[in-house]
Amino acid sequence: MKADLLIHSAAQLCTIPPHNGGPQRGRALGDLGLIENGAVACADGHITAAGPTAQLRADWQATVEVDASGKVVCPGFVDPHTHVVWAGDRANEFEQRVRGATYMEIMAAGGGIMATVRATRAATPEQLVEETLPRLDHLLAHGSTTVEVKTGYGLTTADELKMLDAIAALDADHPVTLVPTFLGAHAVPTEYRNDPDGYVDLVVEDMLPAVSAHNSRLEARFCDVFCEEGAFSLTQTRRILETAQALGFGLKVHADEFKPLGGTGLAVELGAVSADHLVCTTAQEIEQLGRSDTVAVALPATPFGLAHHDYTPAQAILDAGSILALATDCNPGTAWCESVPFIIALACRYLPLTPAQALVAVTLNAAHAVGLGDRVGSLAAGRAADVLVLDLPDYRHLGYRFGTNPVATVVKRGRIVVGH
Ligand SMILES: [Zn+2]
Repeated sequence: MKADLLIHSAAQLCTIPPHNGGPQRGRALGDLGLIENGAVACADGHITAAGPTAQLRADWQATVEVDASGKVVCPGFVDPHTHVVWAGDRANEFEQRVRGATYMEIMAAGGGIMATVRATRAATPEQLVEETLPRLDHLLAHGSTTVEVKTGYGLTTADELKMLDAIAALDADHPVTLVPTFLGAHAVPTEYRNDPDGYVDLVVEDMLPAVSAHNSRLEARFCDVFCEEGAFSLTQTRRILETAQALGFGLKVHADEFKPLGGTGLAVELGAVSADHLVCTTAQEIEQLGRSDTVAVALPATPFGLAHHDYTPAQAILDAGSILALATDCNPGTAWCESVPFIIALACRYLPLTPAQALVAVTLNAAHAVGLGDRVGSLAAGRAADVLVLDLPDYRHLGYRFGTNPVATVVKRGRIVVGH
């Protein structure tokens, strides 16, 4: 049979098999479906077969061959939580934090998310695209082939739609697949400081219908809310998410990053696709999460970026039987991190996950966190041919080594887009 691409002779081929057609739950996390001297064949942008090299060489004649001798081959990484579209930077705030200022003090002085909102409002759509492209290049070079990206630096109807247009333009221009999420409820903008419920009215009555009706090449599939002290209360979060759900959006929640307000319980109750951060989630809500299909997304670069010492209680989350995924949270304030391999290194130390658990959490389970659990995240036949060749002799070098990029080759929809 004919194939477009055959990657062969991999020291280890990590196929990442779905369990019962779905994610790897709880303590079953970490099944790599590992094949030594493995190969994967691709045609028309999809995986056609994965198995031992001898068998695939006998079965498939490929136009392009990649010799992965001495290397690890795995699915492209899925980054299910980023804020990668923004304008400007906050290097000055980072320096202030290093000198001892807290995130809250900086926010009270007009910095934090509002600093990025001012820069993003001032940017044209073209500037937003231009500033974001190098970050997508970095994400792709570090192995991310599918990336969720949130709005939330516009905070007016027009500026939120401008962000969605930038996301659509980037998705069209760049090999990385972008999954847009509407996050109008990221922060209460300064002009509503004395009337936060008035801002929630704007989100519910104006922004959500506008985003829902917006004729973009790439539709916002999800609505997210930052449920946190100083951001949106549980009552406000419920109002926004219930309105979004009625309009057909899938739901996500920023929950329990600093204070436990009940956002995780609400995510489970409403059938959200994911609940993200989960640093101070209560034991009761972890149990609820374990009985649900809501994916728990841990973001270890955020506490690391803030030099905090509390991380997501991943062991309790796995004990409860939950679906665990990892993401970068790439954003200009707390975690400007474009490297999933670095996230794996953090997760192996602070959650702590084994390298095998972390690898499934950035592929199959992460795909489920963006509603693409049957399309990407595994090398099963029929899935998108998003494949990585890692210049590592053994998958356990993921996490073990950090600070250099292990990704040698990135294949996106069957085409080599990084390396050779
Ligand atoms: Zn976030």
